[in-house]
Amino acid sequence: MKILNTVAALREWRASVPGGKTIGLVPTMGALHLGHASLLDASERENDLTIATIFVNPTQFNQSTDFEKYPKTFESDLAMCEKYGADVVFSPSSADEMYPDHFLYRVSEHQLSNELCGEFRPGHFEGVLTVVLKLLNLAKADHAYFGEKDHQQLSLISGMARAFFLETKIIPCPTVREASGLAMSSRNLRLSPADKEIAPGLYRVISDFIDPLQARSELERLGFRVEYLVDREESGAIRRSVAAWLGEVRLIDNVRI
Ligand code: AMP
Repeated sequence: MKILNTVAALREWRASVPGGKTIGLVPTMGALHLGHASLLDASERENDLTIATIFVNPTQFNQSTDFEKYPKTFESDLAMCEKYGADVVFSPSSADEMYPDHFLYRVSEHQLSNELCGEFRPGHFEGVLTVVLKLLNLAKADHAYFGEKDHQQLSLISGMARAFFLETKIIPCPTVREASGLAMSSRNLRLSPADKEIAPGLYRVISDFIDPLQARSELERLGFRVEYLVDREESGAIRRSVAAWLGEVRLIDNVRI
């Protein structure tokens, strides 16, 4: 497995890949868990070569403390990439490596990105779409893998790929959960022991309660500070999305109901 830290090195590696080989791209912010592993696994199965990227993208954080406290577990991330079949890990050595323009050029979406998480995290999806477009352009992958746990992100990335006629096919991957039902997330590492006990309630409540208002009050009763809990129609079914805080940690989840 190759570890590349510069855009130049990634371009050089990409140029050396023979024409007939297929490539899968798995973008991450590190602190890898079995959710990320499932994306790597899918890419390994469906492509000749897999590029995993590890970059805590500063432009998608709207709170500097969230950025600073984002968990970093680089050595075990590399072991996970190796175990799940990555051929290349691209881990840019600095933000300037990805933003030689200092974020003067950005990708914006003007509807969905202002709703749900976007309403509470201004600029977040602009940062996400911009970094993902850069990674897609560098990797020139056949497939890129994204988790349904971040369903709004997945919808926006799929929309961007359609809008800009990108060649890479965006592949959705199901949410991987702990045995308790809690969606795996790098931010779970920051939960206090007491909040870890409460956290599985998020999935349980959004799955079990029919009425969204009752679900919201049940979450508040358990100790969550609910940011939003919204039911929306989506191709003939209802998708329920939630964001809620436990202490300093913001958790998101979504289910089809
Ligand atoms: P992150 O490192 O949190 O930015 O996530 C990188 C990718 O992994 C994104 O496409 C996420 O949607 C996906 N991902 C994160 N957690 C999970 C999970 N529990 N199940 C499936 N995919 C996930």
